[in-house]
Amino acid sequence: MDMQFFVDMEARIPKGKVRTRFAPSPTGYMHVGNLRTALYTWLIARRAGGTFIFRLEDTDQSRQVEGATEIIYRTLGECGLQHDEGPDIGGPVGPYIQTQRRDLYGKYAKLLVEKGAAYYCFCEKQGDEEESAGFERAEDPCRNLSAAEVEEKLSAGLPYVIRQKVPQEGTTTFRDVSYGEITVENKTLDDQVLLKRDGLPTYNFANVVDDHLMGITHVVRGSEYLSSAPKYNLLYEAFGWEIPEYVHCSPVMRDQQHKMSKRHGDPSYEDLRAQGYLTEAILNYVALLGWSPKGEIAEQEVFSLSELAEVFDLAGISKSPAIFDLAKLDHFNALYLRAMEPEAFAKTAEPYIRQSVKNPAIDVAAVAALLQARCEKLTDIPEKVDFFDALPAYDTELFVHKKSKSSIESSREMLDAAIPALEALEVWDAESIHAALMALAEEKQVKNALLMWPVRIAAAGKAVTPGGAVEICAILGREETLCRLKAGREKLN
Ligand code: GLU
Repeated sequence: MDMQFFVDMEARIPKGKVRTRFAPSPTGYMHVGNLRTALYTWLIARRAGGTFIFRLEDTDQSRQVEGATEIIYRTLGECGLQHDEGPDIGGPVGPYIQTQRRDLYGKYAKLLVEKGAAYYCFCEKQGDEEESAGFERAEDPCRNLSAAEVEEKLSAGLPYVIRQKVPQEGTTTFRDVSYGEITVENKTLDDQVLLKRDGLPTYNFANVVDDHLMGITHVVRGSEYLSSAPKYNLLYEAFGWEIPEYVHCSPVMRDQQHKMSKRHGDPSYEDLRAQGYLTEAILNYVALLGWSPKGEIAEQEVFSLSELAEVFDLAGISKSPAIFDLAKLDHFNALYLRAMEPEAFAKTAEPYIRQSVKNPAIDVAAVAALLQARCEKLTDIPEKVDFFDALPAYDTELFVHKKSKSSIESSREMLDAAIPALEALEVWDAESIHAALMALAEEKQVKNALLMWPVRIAAAGKAVTPGGAVEICAILGREETLCRLKAGREKLN
């Protein structure tokens, strides 16, 4: 065996700094659990001034989904989770795509055979049986072949897989940051396949080899991999490699019983964006699904990504499953929408406003100003402002409003007075409309609400609107407002 190869590989490994990796398989969309893993992984690296690596685990060719890699890149990019090393930008321990590393895994599998921790298996097993190693280890004919027997079969060109040789006795213990110390009986572990018949590694093997060769110090992943961790440890030990810190994250649940899943219609990151949620709000909420701040910041719920990068700590990670609650996300989204600069909000809201307000004369920024404090999701917007474009058909009953003491009769009287007062305005803006209506209420000795109610109903044709009579009239413009007020007055005849 050419041992120099392994020595050279070791020499490349960066040391002394925290190095984390996000290692998705391009098998579909970026679900909320994946996003959380990516976020935590990025945060651990940033908090420690370390390196965040992106690695593509594409060895299971049968599970690849066209376009999945692009979705992952796009999501990380939009979320601001930049990587320092990866397929697109390179780095000292590349390549960062597992299929491009394929020649490497065979060498390491053979090294493991040499060390007595793996063996060639020539048995003809059916696909499933092979992967799951659902067979009795002690009876396996290949486990104890002599070197000469192996050599003979290899030279005869027999196809083979390489399996991990898990000790039949004893226990294996591993430590996880949130789950603590876990010990399992070795006899419950299987002689999993490390190298497949086609020469490609299994996910479980490639993962360990790459985490080591890339100098990964913290392995962050979903808790579905917890049960494999003892086998990973046995591999690290057999190679004589240092075991990284494991951070297994509890599942993200739809409810008490069910994990979130695409199949059941649970949203991915991109779905959430399409449903009108801001990236910042999604990240903030996702950060808190399984992590909570402690000490002075224990009560804080709003965290920007850069704040998180300063305070995120492993101690705050919880092992209890987190329930993904859309109502809670709505709450965060509303907070973020409100906190935006008005110009930024207007820009973000514009496409949603324009879905229902096509009239170019309507000032988008003015409509946005009405909305900013009044929406939870951007997708709520079109329905809230549709009346600017076209007066909806409405019932005269809308003029009747108890709290404002507005009735059909009072509405007639108020509109009769408001129409000429507004017609007489020289300047049409919120300030002059407000002044004119206030003066009119004063003159008629009525409460403002009694006058404003029918003006707003006639202008909007809706009981609930973002903004009051003055703002709505100002945005509609003189001509359209007067036309609508007159139409409303007609209705009351
Ligand atoms: N490729 C694995 C996945 O997408 C990553 C698991 C890990 O991070 O170790 O689930």
